[in-house]
Amino acid sequence: MKYLCIFIFSVCLCMNVCCSQQEKKGIRWPNGAKAAICLTYDDAMTTHLEFGLPALDSVGLKGTFFLNPTRSRDEILGWMAAAEKGHELGNHSVLHPCPKNMGWPDKLITDDYTVKQILNEVAVQNKFLETLDADKTFRTYAYPCSNTMVGGLSYSKALKESKLIRFARTGGNENSIITDFDTLNYFEVPSYEVQEYTKGEALISYVKKVIDKKGFGVFMFHGINGQWFNVPSKEHRMLLEYLQDHQKDVWVATFAEIMTHIESQSKKGLK
Ligand SMILES: [Zn+2]
Repeated sequence: MKYLCIFIFSVCLCMNVCCSQQEKKGIRWPNGAKAAICLTYDDAMTTHLEFGLPALDSVGLKGTFFLNPTRSRDEILGWMAAAEKGHELGNHSVLHPCPKNMGWPDKLITDDYTVKQILNEVAVQNKFLETLDADKTFRTYAYPCSNTMVGGLSYSKALKESKLIRFARTGGNENSIITDFDTLNYFEVPSYEVQEYTKGEALISYVKKVIDKKGFGVFMFHGINGQWFNVPSKEHRMLLEYLQDHQKDVWVATFAEIMTHIESQSKKGLK
């Protein structure tokens, strides 16, 4: 009797695991790819225009650039050209407020912000982006400093309800790989915050993990070959060439494209 119980328990356990694996198989990536990768770049940096975009264009891959207001005419023209080539221009707020404990100046700390204030910035920045790239039907957002809180409360739900933004990205590390698409919060999509001087091998190792898990991985870059959280061009290019060589396995697209695809395929999107 004891052995019969163990046998029945094992069968149930197996069925349970098999079923949950089947449920998680939900997403089919385009062109038979095993996984999806998104390349995102924050803070409207000049090194994106100087080094990041030319590198992406040279291998024919599209990135997502989360912008704050742009500073010069040359930069404005650069972002317009990027959008024309199919790169995505996303929203990263106007003033980039962050928590006090991250060393931000008093007037720009989210600890003292209200939801109304941050949503106003998102709305203003949407209007600015419209001047660069008018044909977009919706925008995506990256939380400044990957921080979802203002005045001690999360504003991700308010952001969703505002309808200013369709999908939003937060932070994370090299273990941030999305595999459960039914429970994924479209307003808190995790990403791999790439640290300064990360090697190309480490970037590729993340892609390999995403492929193994048949998941979705989002890179969060800052400076390319300069500025803050600098990843030298050589390391960045090593990743891009790997992605180009493995396009059969990995679908590389913008945040808006991949999230729209996930939404259309997952159970949540069908509701
Ligand atoms: Zn930022």
